Amino acid sequence: MQDDGTSGPRIVLERGDITEQQVDAVVNAANSGLMGGGGVDGAILRAGGAPQREARKALVERIGSLPTGRAAASDAGDMPARWVIHVVGPVWSKQEDRSELLASCYRNALAVADELGARSVAFPAVSAGVYGWPLDSAAEIAVTTVTSTPTHVSEARFVLFDDAAYAAFTRAAGSLP
Ligand code: ADP
Repeated sequence: MQDDGTSGPRIVLERGDITEQQVDAVVNAANSGLMGGGGVDGAILRAGGAPQREARKALVERIGSLPTGRAAASDAGDMPARWVIHVVGPVWSKQEDRSELLASCYRNALAVADELGARSVAFPAVSAGVYGWPLDSAAEIAVTTVTSTPTHVSEARFVLFDDAAYAAFTRAAGSLP
């Protein structure tokens, strides 16, 4: 297993609900306000209950809002995972290439995981829901960034909520060198 911090983690693809994952940390496709929204963010907040809500409030008091592409952690509350690592994905744009911001979400999430000492991390398809990023492109950026980021995280688990996302991530993982 590669956990010497010199290479990317092993990746695992799973179709399912990220809130149920038995991992050290779950990555959340949050918005800058960090107090919840729809999609995966709402599901993670519901699953974490009052303790996660309080932890998010404390995080907001500490850092204010979270800029696009950045990552910050809170306790997960009533979830199997210990931490939630919040990232804010970019909204898809036809006019502007925001791929680097999306890649930053994954790199910064892994950096925060390293600070926490998390060894297993579950990721959703950041930006691929309400933020409108085309699935194949979102999957390719996610998989290539995570596998090429030096980290002590040994397992990066992409948890895909529907068949289309799972298929896109399977294609992206299959075209890795
Ligand atoms: P964004 O605003 O970054 O696009 P969304 O929450 O709208 O974030 O969607 C991101 C991805 O998360 C989508 O592919 C969506 O289907 C997926 N998703 C929604 N709920 C869950 C869940 N409980 N577990 C895993 N993925 C989820």
